[in-house]
Amino acid sequence: MRILLVEDERRVASFVRQGLEEEGYAVDWVPEGRRGLERALGEPFDLILLDVRLPDLSGIEVCRQLRLHDPDVPVLMLTALDAVEDKVTGLRAGADDYLPKPFAFDELLARIEALLRRTRTSQERRPLEAGPLTLDPVARRCTCDGTDMNLTPKEFDLLAYFLARPGQALTRDDIHRDVWGHDFDRGTNLIDVYVGYVRHKLDDAGCTAQIETVRGVGYRFVPEGGERS
Ligand code: CA
Repeated sequence: MRILLVEDERRVASFVRQGLEEEGYAVDWVPEGRRGLERALGEPFDLILLDVRLPDLSGIEVCRQLRLHDPDVPVLMLTALDAVEDKVTGLRAGADDYLPKPFAFDELLARIEALLRRTRTSQERRPLEAGPLTLDPVARRCTCDGTDMNLTPKEFDLLAYFLARPGQALTRDDIHRDVWGHDFDRGTNLIDVYVGYVRHKLDDAGCTAQIETVRGVGYRFVPEGGERS
């Protein structure tokens, strides 16, 4: 899980970043609004932590502009204590939740987890399309050019994970954490084995979508015309 933290106060930023990293999140910190907006629009983040009072572009404005392009990414605003106006305008600008400063780290964490859970639930129900593939998470059915792929439950979860992240290099650790969960033994080559199964099924279906090997990193899903190397 990747979080973008837009916060100009170095002390707050390092406290938040350190805590979240200890919880296993990857945190990118940007101290300015304009730069934060650029990063949020240009890269895939799972959540944006956005301070309202920023020196250049306010958090409200960042959120408003972000929402024009990305209606889905969860945004949690960090507001000044008792600034009711910040909270209201923040929510109107498209923030999903807010937390007044100063806050306890545990409360921040709980709100982040709740937001991610909510987003995941709604995203998980949405059909995914990439190249010739269509995957319906509710019916648990995946087709390539209309032909059923006949995936086992774990193959389905793995392919759904790739389909939601086309073109991204995904490490085995990413896949391990997000598809298998924390109880999975990392010492095994289970991910490689399952990628092999899914590749076979893509081939059998005559599918042009590929799971490429990214040397030294892991895998990348390419909806059309990929190379396995
Ligand atoms: Ca600030």
